[in-house]
Amino acid sequence: MLNPFEKVKIPPEVEDFIKSYLNKIPSIGGNTPKDRELRRVKSLEDSLSRYSEFVSTFPKVDELHPFYQEMVRIVAGDVDKLKMCLSAINRAVILSRKVTRQYMGLIRKSQDEEANKLMRQCVGRINSILRKRSECVSWTIQVAKSLRRFKAIDPSLPTIVIAGAPNVGKSTLVGKISSAKPEVASYPFTTKEIHVGHIDLGFFKAQVIDTPGILDRPMAKRNKIELQAINAIKNLDGIILFIFDVSKTSLYSAKEQLDLYEEVRELGKRVIPVLNKIDDKDEKLYEEIKTKVNPEFEISAEKGDGINELLNYVISLMKHEIGNKVLDK
Ligand code: GDP
Repeated sequence: MLNPFEKVKIPPEVEDFIKSYLNKIPSIGGNTPKDRELRRVKSLEDSLSRYSEFVSTFPKVDELHPFYQEMVRIVAGDVDKLKMCLSAINRAVILSRKVTRQYMGLIRKSQDEEANKLMRQCVGRINSILRKRSECVSWTIQVAKSLRRFKAIDPSLPTIVIAGAPNVGKSTLVGKISSAKPEVASYPFTTKEIHVGHIDLGFFKAQVIDTPGILDRPMAKRNKIELQAINAIKNLDGIILFIFDVSKTSLYSAKEQLDLYEEVRELGKRVIPVLNKIDDKDEKLYEEIKTKVNPEFEISAEKGDGINELLNYVISLMKHEIGNKVLDK
């Protein structure tokens, strides 16, 4: 799925439009002065399509995939303002076109020597219509530009989300189960870079993402954007692998990791517990976690041990879920 914001046709800022276009209306032929000014007003009218196309190519927020709806909420902050601005820009175009038509009528009825003055008046009125909306235009352009940068996560693909406390081996695992080198991407919901990998078995395609700064610490400590980020992740189709670090160098106790695991389970998605760093296990930590979560998988992401079994299981699970979904439709 293409990022729906990639198809947005971004217009110039109002002041740039005025400077480069309205104040420099080109000579475009015409046999008489009236004819020339009429052509100019017509070309002015045509140029307004830069703004009408901006509005018409901007995705309708309510129709977006829930993942992107959440992204819009995070980036724009205020979805109502976004809708208001888009409709204000649209109204400005409608109004401007009305003005150009009105002036074309006036020019047609005018004397030759008046035509240029009327054309200038028309330009002045359109300048002022657009200038009144210039803040909206500018803000909406920024929102669209920010949103089109986020291409790495494709919400139409089945997704394996890797969760767990910091340093447990999430990004190492993303690298190990991806078919090619994962992309490193920035998203507005975390200050850390996330890794997005792909599993491509020809007949089966999925994405795998880690979640630094998102699903790695207690929910109670989160701000609004982080909660929205969790919501965005929740809206991806697929499963969560929750990674425990059972090594001697683990930065987190069994209790801290288990508490986080319970919180992630409350998201209502399928969560599969996985014990990592089994090559360097701390017996006490290992036992404490193992007895609580009864994990089916014990791996060493770094050494690659247990990865194939885990991957095969995840793929069969996802294929089953995708199959059920198709049947549900
Ligand atoms: P993240 O913060 O959860 O993404 O963790 P990283 O993938 O960056 O890994 C943190 C550290 O743990 C790195 O130094 C890795 O090399 C190390 N690590 C990851 N997996 C394993 C493993 O299976 N065994 C051991 N011994 N170290 C690992």
